[in-house]
Amino acid sequence: MKAIQYRSVGGRPEVVEIDDPQVGPGQVLLKVTASGMCHSDEFVMGLKKEQLTFPLPLTLGHEGAGTVEALGDGVEGISIGDSVAVYGPWGCGRCIKCAQGKENYCTRAKDEGIRPPGLGAPGAMAEYMIVNDPRHLVPLGDLDPVKNVSLTDAGLTPYAAIKASLPKLGAGSTAVVIGAGGLGHVGIQILRALSAAYVIALDVNDEKLDLARKVGAHQALLSDKNAAASIKEITNGLGADAVFDFVGAQPTVELAGSIAAIEGDVTIVGIGGGALAVGYGIMANDVTVRSPYWGSRSELLEVLELARGGAINVEVETYSLDEGPKAYERLHAGKISGRGVIVP
Ligand code: NAD
Ligand code: ZN
Ligand code: ZN
Repeated sequence: MKAIQYRSVGGRPEVVEIDDPQVGPGQVLLKVTASGMCHSDEFVMGLKKEQLTFPLPLTLGHEGAGTVEALGDGVEGISIGDSVAVYGPWGCGRCIKCAQGKENYCTRAKDEGIRPPGLGAPGAMAEYMIVNDPRHLVPLGDLDPVKNVSLTDAGLTPYAAIKASLPKLGAGSTAVVIGAGGLGHVGIQILRALSAAYVIALDVNDEKLDLARKVGAHQALLSDKNAAASIKEITNGLGADAVFDFVGAQPTVELAGSIAAIEGDVTIVGIGGGALAVGYGIMANDVTVRSPYWGSRSELLEVLELARGGAINVEVETYSLDEGPKAYERLHAGKISGRGVIVP
């Protein structure tokens, strides 16, 4: 079968022919219907050899959807032909976090060598993929896999980040989204659906600012040296009750910290390597700083329900497997509007 792989440190994604995967006991074989491209793929491909925690080659794609093609021995409760999305942050299924559905925070995954598809295990950018356990699958029903595959990460991650801040986002509050890309443009829609907050988006790219307005931001501003002053002015000097940083670089985490209101939340989602100083008097009083990873199984079901109700519309650019390398060049150059999705 055809797959898009990251094959050697410092290389770029390549389309290759590999053996069809064989389903083992307890596993599910999917015929892939869609796979999303995430900026985290670029992060992984930017790591040095000593920083990589898994061997190459790696079939990319940690946002996956497919139809059930074959069931391994012992698999029940799912049928051939079902349209499903893949919950990506696989855990052991048994530890306290997994028992709570928070496999993204599994305490044993590292020791047991369990890795997400596309981030260590073979991912969804291929004609077929293996899913280790049927519990990682959620039914898509009549949701279009191409339009909704990215809810498994670009939807789930902002959903989990935003849900934790909802008590602070009542009427009259302000939320700021930094980075209106794949995650950010979905985050804006989630904020509009779940909160009463006035939503301000920041980005460095005018087209992304247009997308932010289109998907529901009340205001969209350039993320430049004037951004902090503009946000203070819009909020009558109070600052934002929640800031979601979908970039996570040094300038954006500093900006996030500087615009957080008293008792506000700063949630750093982007893995841009930025560090925020925390200490008395550095930020407004009692600001909470978090750096969450992905989301829980139940939150994935919730975010799919939001899409089913029409509250989330992922903006997608679609590409074939053969076009994958070209699509990754667009992602690398910051040119993808919304999410790039590979349709095998
Ligand atoms: P993306 O490339 O689609 O979007 C990034 C956006 O940020 C773009 O619109 C870009 O123009 C904008 N941007 C860049 N520099 C900026 C700046 N200084 N100020 C404001 N905007 C700026 O990326 P994505 O796939 O949405 O991923 C976003 C980040 O989240 C990445 O770092 C990714 O690795 C990370 N991520 C984290 C998790 C997690 O669980 N914590 C999950 C998925 C992705
Ligand atoms: Zn991702
Ligand atoms: Zn676990």
